[in-house]
Amino acid sequence: MFPRSKACGDVLTPRAVRQLRDLAVEPDDLGWHRLGAVRLERGDRSLELPWPSHDGAATFAVVARRRELDVTMLDLAAAAGAEVRSGHDAVEPIVTRGFVRGAIVRSPGGALHDIPARYVLVADGANSPFGRSLGTFRTRRWPFAAAIRSYWPSPHTDDGALHLGLDLRDRAGAALPGYGWVAPVGDGTVNIGVGLLSTARDFKGTNVAHLLDGFVAQVADRWQIDPAGSTGVVRVGRVPMGGSVQPTAGPTFLVVGDAAGVASPFTGAGIDAAMETGRMAADVLHDALADAGPTALQRYPRLVADTYAEQYQLARLWGRVLGRPAAMTRVTAAAVRSRLVSETLLRIMSGALRRDEFGAPETVARLASTVLPLAPEA
Ligand SMILES: Cc1cc2nc3c(=O)[nH]c(=O)nc-3n(C[C@H](O)[C@H](O)[C@H](O)COP(=O)(O)OP(=O)(O)OC[C@H]3O[C@@H](n4cnc5c(N)ncnc54)[C@H](O)[C@@H]3O)c2cc1C
Repeated sequence: MFPRSKACGDVLTPRAVRQLRDLAVEPDDLGWHRLGAVRLERGDRSLELPWPSHDGAATFAVVARRRELDVTMLDLAAAAGAEVRSGHDAVEPIVTRGFVRGAIVRSPGGALHDIPARYVLVADGANSPFGRSLGTFRTRRWPFAAAIRSYWPSPHTDDGALHLGLDLRDRAGAALPGYGWVAPVGDGTVNIGVGLLSTARDFKGTNVAHLLDGFVAQVADRWQIDPAGSTGVVRVGRVPMGGSVQPTAGPTFLVVGDAAGVASPFTGAGIDAAMETGRMAADVLHDALADAGPTALQRYPRLVADTYAEQYQLARLWGRVLGRPAAMTRVTAAAVRSRLVSETLLRIMSGALRRDEFGAPETVARLASTVLPLAPEA
């Protein structure tokens, strides 16, 4: 149901901004707050750097509350001719002779009715019950993220940098594979949250709400916030990542966004990949409906793999290695000291490694991927 209160850091990465601009949406016109830089902070050290440039992406991110982003996207769809049915639940697929041919939908009043379709796009988010009923599954040994956020009033709401705290620790003081963020929203508040990778040693025993409390206390002075004065609901969510959900296509359906587990395996950010996969799926479906027929759908998994497989393989490896406190400590300490390391981290985080270039960050990322697994334990 829209508008909704979705657990989200509200940060649209430069890749997401590019997707918006390609849809003729200019974030500045909507008053969404620009973030021109990323500030990495660990202990009393911090380093600020611009977003890495990449492949036609914008050079800035924006912060947009999810209810605003969702409404903007729905309005665009409606303007392009889509019939938007708010509050309807897709309950189960209509299957005819083994092919998905639409969905049985529950209306807000509770009545069930059929919506027939030649092709079905599955976009039901992280848990994806509809996708599961079509046989999609998540590879359980690949990492996922748990994340939590809320809002606090802050006089620094117009700060122009996304603040990332790289010093998350468990109760025993060991470094955790995750980070805290402060995203200035530009509306009098800041969005503060914490994300933790499932590669953490004691992931199941770690309470992300406690991590958020600890992080908020850490940043309270700098952002002049009252830790007890959160204005939004505290929301938590899980994000499947790194292409961990398969298959992404069937004979008559495609799977996009979190339902396809395409969020970044390093950060859990997935609005950009949801928009990108939505666009790839739209292209493929356009061809299928025009004249190519259902075979066009089989192009989609290859498009997804070509776009993400290499970056995600690298980021998954890093995620696994950073589950070890010694490696996490070493990498984050280096990140706030060295521009090269921080730029490398940021390129991996934002999915901006340049595939065909061997610029310094790309070389460092590949070298470190082979060296880090060998780092001794703490
Ligand atoms: C705490 C937290 C912070 C995050 N911060 C960021 C961030 O700052 N930047 C970023 O890029 N990513 C962030 N993410 C990840 C991001 O939220 C997701 O990757 C992104 O929302 C995926 O978009 P989606 O459209 O695939 O899924 P969703 O945004 O989850 O949308 C799925 C939609 O499908 C609807 N739906 C589900 N089932 C049905 C059904 N049966 N019938 C009809 N509708 C259905 C849901 O109601 C929902 O509206 C964060 C995640 C969490 C948990």
